[in-house]
Amino acid sequence: MALKEFNVKNAYCKRVWDELKVRYADQEHFLQAAGLVLETLSPVVDTMPGIEKTAVLERFVEPERIIMFRVPWTDDAGKPHVNRGFRVQFNSAIGPYKGGLRFSPEVSLDVLKFLGFEQVLKNSLTTLPMGGGKGGADFDPHGKSDAEVMRFCQSFMTELYRHIGADTDVPAGDKGVGGREVAWMFGQYKRITNQFTGVLTGKGLDFGGSLIRPEATGYGLIYFAECMLKAVNTDFNGKTCIISGDGNVAQYACEKVTQLGGKVITLSDSTGYILDEDGIDAEKLAFVMQFRGEHKKIDTYLTKYPKAKFFKGEKPWGVKADCAFPCATQDEIYMEDAKKLVANGVKLVAEGANMPTRADAIEYLQKNDVLFAPGKASNAGGVAVSGLEMSQNSERLSWTREEVDSKLKHIMTQIHDNAYETAKKYAPSKTTDYVSGANIYGFLKVARAMDAQGLV
Ligand code: GLU
Repeated sequence: MALKEFNVKNAYCKRVWDELKVRYADQEHFLQAAGLVLETLSPVVDTMPGIEKTAVLERFVEPERIIMFRVPWTDDAGKPHVNRGFRVQFNSAIGPYKGGLRFSPEVSLDVLKFLGFEQVLKNSLTTLPMGGGKGGADFDPHGKSDAEVMRFCQSFMTELYRHIGADTDVPAGDKGVGGREVAWMFGQYKRITNQFTGVLTGKGLDFGGSLIRPEATGYGLIYFAECMLKAVNTDFNGKTCIISGDGNVAQYACEKVTQLGGKVITLSDSTGYILDEDGIDAEKLAFVMQFRGEHKKIDTYLTKYPKAKFFKGEKPWGVKADCAFPCATQDEIYMEDAKKLVANGVKLVAEGANMPTRADAIEYLQKNDVLFAPGKASNAGGVAVSGLEMSQNSERLSWTREEVDSKLKHIMTQIHDNAYETAKKYAPSKTTDYVSGANIYGFLKVARAMDAQGLV
């Protein structure tokens, strides 16, 4: 994949960017994430000449610590396997490291560094005291038995436990790691350390989990998009939406759009996408949740709703719609997809996944007046409610559904408004440049904290 030529104007940002490109030439995803951030930070770094003296940017792009370890486990036939496990503890300037664990064959240091870097800014945007980290393993849970996945989780935690803690580093789920896996890892952590603490989030409700955590990323995404629509004097009523993915984020985004009067007409997985022109309402979504829970593929939808169509091996970006929500994984929207979105009248793209849109595609969308929200702002609801789970664990209380949901909504509105106002201040030519707004607002808090804490 070719790396976009970033236009990094500020001299300090450019020096750091040029060094980074050489040092990590083989980490394409990390470079894409860092390049876009350094490009958009230029106008604010222009106003902060002092931060070069304490090497804030050089430190900001370098993880504080990377832990890499082997994860041995046996399958049900007794055959041994060895996977690679990672935890990238990127930045703890504003709070303990916080971020998910991903179990997926595509996991590499490159992917986890990009995710960890984005997480630093995302967590800062939530306004909660959380640093950034990310981890996982190149383990593919698909096709594995429950017992195999449990043994893998236990082996993974048998090494990870010594590096994490409720005030040190608090992992959670991500792709391939849901409530079931978090629970198995929590059980193993507790067994080894003999401590019941809030060391993981996304836990079950019976042992310290928070209400609304499963819904949080999807709901938060749509609350954020609602703010974007409000800023241009409209709302979800009557809007047609296309969503990619069929997991946790996609499901609850679909539910919330429908509740707000919009119509979701697509969902997808790695095999293709389904199109239901009548809209995927609450009843149809319940069916998706059921068969997805049984690990069935997205074309199962047609067994109950035969009027819908299945497009094998395709992505939904060629479908006519008002809003698009990529909620599957990174690298979903390339330039050719961005062109299709614009040609089909899409006016808003908000990322539910992390970096699903390639940097050149973002530029194309913005140039064509599509309102674009980067994942670090629009999908921050998940980690925000993780932050609320940490608070509840600390006070050993649990809050009601309504309490958590209203806090989530408030946080998403704040993230929107902060990004919007910051963009207006630093990128006034592009009034709704949420990419610049989110990067700058997220960076400022971390940079101030790093500067104040000295050369550490
Ligand atoms: N994996 C989610 C994210 O990308 C949530 C992380 C968390 O809750 O710590 O933000």
